[in-house]
Amino acid sequence: MSDLPDIRDDSPLPEALRFRAPAPLVDIGANLTHDSFSRDGEAVIERARAAGVETLIVTGTDQRHARQAIELAEHHTGLYATAGIHPHEASQWNAELAAAFAELHRHPAVVAVGECGLDFNRNFSTPAEQERAFEAQLTLAAENGLPLFLHERDAGRRMLEMLTAWRDDIRDAVVHCFTGEREVLHGYLDLDLHVGLTGWLCDERRGHHLRELLADIPLNRLMVETDCPYLLPRNLPAKPRARRHEPALLPWIVAEIAHWRGDTALTVARETTATARRFFQLEENVR
Ligand SMILES: [Zn+2]
Repeated sequence: MSDLPDIRDDSPLPEALRFRAPAPLVDIGANLTHDSFSRDGEAVIERARAAGVETLIVTGTDQRHARQAIELAEHHTGLYATAGIHPHEASQWNAELAAAFAELHRHPAVVAVGECGLDFNRNFSTPAEQERAFEAQLTLAAENGLPLFLHERDAGRRMLEMLTAWRDDIRDAVVHCFTGEREVLHGYLDLDLHVGLTGWLCDERRGHHLRELLADIPLNRLMVETDCPYLLPRNLPAKPRARRHEPALLPWIVAEIAHWRGDTALTVARETTATARRFFQLEENVR
């Protein structure tokens, strides 16, 4: 999550942005419950399918959004949900919420605990509140065996400490929208965790360091995501109206990752999809 003005966009994408993935893709981080999709969510899902982005993991960042994500998944083939409390909202955490999430995690559409984790960049909740909510969600994941969908910004060291302590108890975790440095990346990979990449690496102001790290990430540990409506890639050949990001643009990010890795887009598409299907156990969970 990051800042985005409250904008709505129900216009189709410009011609230059009608991409087609070389193989079916999984967008592991789509915030489709964001207000900016309230008017044209159906069209957004259709455009994703037309672009070959066949599976969407809809991010649930608090109780209300997790419920909305589950509802979307119930009504659309190929959509799944995560359920958790984002570090920005961590101050809300209490025993009642823990019980509510334990219940949501039992829903068949829920494929991960999260979005949860640590964000010391903005500290909308205090670091202590964030650690408490994160620890509680690690406990839930350890109990229910679901993988974790993690958010980490400027908190790599502490995240690594906490995950090291929990590694034997949790099944798996993906650090979504990875933006950190090499040392932290290798820390995650050494714990046999997964990494999600967004269009952040298309941002010349802050994301280009990721290009040199791409080759370090084995394809069986890499997944791709838009984090839409946030993080619209800055190097697109055209701008969607209102600058809203959406899953249909994921093939652009895959092509960018492939370019900087020296792989083909087909390889990156196939492998990251296989990784996501395995990670979220989508085969056993066909919807
Ligand atoms: Zn996030």
